[in-house]
Amino acid sequence: MAEHSDEQRQALRLRRSLIGMIGSLAFVVLAWIAREHGLVAVGASIFWLLFGPWLLGYAAIVGVIVSGRNRSLRDPSCTELQVLWAALGPLLLMPLAPVLAALCYLAWVSAGLFGAFRLEAARYVVLNAIIALIGGAGFAASLMFSPGIGDTMAATLGFAGFLLAMAVVTAAGLELGGFRRMLVERNEQLTHAFERLRDMSVRDELTGLHNRRFLMDVLQQQKAQHDRQAEQLFSVAFVDLDHFKRVNDVFGHTKGDLVLKRFAEIASRAVREVDYVARFGGEEFVLVLVGTPKENAVVVAERIRRRMARLVISDELPDFRISASFGISQHRVGEPVEATLTRADEALYEAKRAGRNRVVLAPDVPPEDAVGAGDNSAGSAGP
Ligand code: GH3
Ligand code: MG
Ligand code: MG
Repeated sequence: MAEHSDEQRQALRLRRSLIGMIGSLAFVVLAWIAREHGLVAVGASIFWLLFGPWLLGYAAIVGVIVSGRNRSLRDPSCTELQVLWAALGPLLLMPLAPVLAALCYLAWVSAGLFGAFRLEAARYVVLNAIIALIGGAGFAASLMFSPGIGDTMAATLGFAGFLLAMAVVTAAGLELGGFRRMLVERNEQLTHAFERLRDMSVRDELTGLHNRRFLMDVLQQQKAQHDRQAEQLFSVAFVDLDHFKRVNDVFGHTKGDLVLKRFAEIASRAVREVDYVARFGGEEFVLVLVGTPKENAVVVAERIRRRMARLVISDELPDFRISASFGISQHRVGEPVEATLTRADEALYEAKRAGRNRVVLAPDVPPEDAVGAGDNSAGSAGP
């Protein structure tokens, strides 16, 4: 669904130039056969002196694309260059063999179709007009070699047919080009819509943080890694904004939303690229701190807590502050992620109970086993 990668585009350019090159080669083979049958008025050496460089020129274009040097060109697909170069071969042949006019016209018409897929409509029309002119030059040159009035009439009708074919090919090419552009546009729209949908399915709309669904996937992933390899540990921090209802009550819901966004920014900035910050719901958030033991998770949570406590909600009430409480747990090998979250949630509850605006670490052992367990709170850094 995504746009073509540079490599795909390059492969497409190469394929197109190879088709052109094979077409040119086939043209020279036909001209050579005609020469063998006395239809081309030159010896073998002159023939190759003319058509050798022409073929080599085309090979050089292919070579530039193979080498990747075309990438730095204004038009990396070299469409116009290829089409014009392809049009020169028949121009060499026509004065030497007026009887091969049909072959030359066919080659020009084929070249005329080539630009349809790549070029803007106006450029395509101009290019085809140039090909028609080249055909006209070929026709004029062939007339000089054409004896007798009957032949001239036939040649003129042939040229008229060529011009007609060019006009039809140009019109059809414009249709094709329009169709291609429409496809490209549709594809872009679809890609955009797909990305938006994907984003919507993993992000919280208000804060732009990951949503709960994504969080649960992340936790399962982290758990699987940790269960496999004990050193791939991770901690979670459950966060709840303190007395958040007051913000809504005092300043209104819009301000409340803004505070949620501010928290999202503060938390996102406080963690590393590899960590995750998710909105669990309402004014509750969960941080997943990858490769982080609980003691370090406390340090991160403390940093967020302090920054949050400094946040001025409104200039009108500069003393109005909003704090946050944190509960932290470290995943245990084999433990379901729900249990890790529950332990963090319980620690958060402890933080609330102890007066809010603090970070509490979940006990190392489940409460029912915690006979004579010491104080496990992280030296709660309360106000
Ligand atoms: P506590 O310290 O005990 O957590 O108190 P609290 O007021 O934060 O807790 P409570 O659960 O009573 O209230 C949470 C409030 O959060 C209630 C609700 O109006 C508000 N809230 C939840 N989601 C949103 C939201 O998306 N935008 C806004 N503006 N407010 C929200
Ligand atoms: Mg709450
Ligand atoms: Mg709250």
